[in-house]
Amino acid sequence: MSKSYFMPTRVIMGNNCVVENSKMFSTYGKNAMIVTGKSSAKINGAEADVVEVLKAVGINYLIYDQVMSNPTVSCVFEGADYGRDNAVDFIIAIGGGSPLDAAKAMALIIGSNLSEDNLFSGNYTEALPLIAIPTTAGTGSEVTQYSIITNDVLETKIGIKTHLIFPKVALLDAKYMMSLSVVNTVNTTIDALSHAVEGMISIKASGISDSLATRSIRMIMGCVPTMMEVLEEEDSTLFTLEMREKFLYASTLAGMVIAQTGTTAVHAMGYALTYNKQIDHGRANGLLIGEFLRFTEKGEPKLVARVLEAMDIRRVDVYIDMMRKLFGELEPISNEEIRTFSAKAILAGNISNCPVIPTVADLEAIFMASFGVK
Ligand code: NAP
Ligand code: FE
Repeated sequence: MSKSYFMPTRVIMGNNCVVENSKMFSTYGKNAMIVTGKSSAKINGAEADVVEVLKAVGINYLIYDQVMSNPTVSCVFEGADYGRDNAVDFIIAIGGGSPLDAAKAMALIIGSNLSEDNLFSGNYTEALPLIAIPTTAGTGSEVTQYSIITNDVLETKIGIKTHLIFPKVALLDAKYMMSLSVVNTVNTTIDALSHAVEGMISIKASGISDSLATRSIRMIMGCVPTMMEVLEEEDSTLFTLEMREKFLYASTLAGMVIAQTGTTAVHAMGYALTYNKQIDHGRANGLLIGEFLRFTEKGEPKLVARVLEAMDIRRVDVYIDMMRKLFGELEPISNEEIRTFSAKAILAGNISNCPVIPTVADLEAIFMASFGVK
């Protein structure tokens, strides 16, 4: 199977990189739409930095700040209508994966003139240029061609995938993450870990993506003891700027990985938990990876051994214990829910990236073992 590596996003990182790169914004037009969530970008200073830059270089702007976590089809059409009515040339997305993904969908809806009926059709022609400023370190959306949108008709999350929505530029400044809560920090970091691990497991992995994934896994696993200490001591000051920078860097590397490899059954199963049981995306993945690795190990022991080596542990059990400690009490989940979620997850496209293709019964067994269901 031939492998390729394609990542067209320019990545700029470092303290104050938004303000220091003000001229770059003019490359993309005269009218911008800032897309963000309800409040965090106002609190962490990212929106103020962008507004300062746009004013300084004479770009008109409007703000769509109604993106909720796990953005819906109606949200992305509301934002796209607002942008189209005001003839915006480009979009600046600020926030976690939700505003970044929503902004990508809006850029595509406006650029390809999409309706709700053909949002997920794959027939896309253009997208507005997008600048991404992540304020969580988890999804890697700033360097991927994916936008994950909640589809209430199909009762799950669906990925839009097209090279048209790779952001043109990603601006990484960890100072915006200093206000991120402990729980959100842990959940999003473990989402990044799942991207790097699933990227190594995927049949689309290559030498290049494995190098990025290994580096990302090492950086995150090196921070797990501090995460546990923060949770035990309830002292978030242990998440220093230096550590936030590591999380952000590791998350962007993991995003570059899944841009090549896609995700696997873990994300397919995690979406069902997020949609139906409101279990946070990163938490859901973190709780499922261990048993997924144990399942894969039976058919591909050498591959899983390489992942464990990157994690600097010998056995899958050690990882599972770590996640149990990190995530605390597990959500109750019934046998009937497991059957429904597995039947839905098996239909997801990312199942085909697994080197050992699971059956519905395998998915049920992974859910049961992950949540201690008999
Ligand atoms: P999120 O849903 O974007 O944000 C979660 C919460 O964190 C929100 O309440 C948000 O507040 C807050 N927040 C964000 N940045 C903050 C900061 N710096 N300080 C304080 N609070 C902050 O969370 P996420 O985990 O980053 O994104 C999850 C979404 O990304 C899911 O929909 C998932 O499916 C998707 N995803 C996408 C990809 C991809 O490749 N595109 C990959 C994996 C996951 P506000 O609402 O006020 O901003
Ligand atoms: Fe994810």
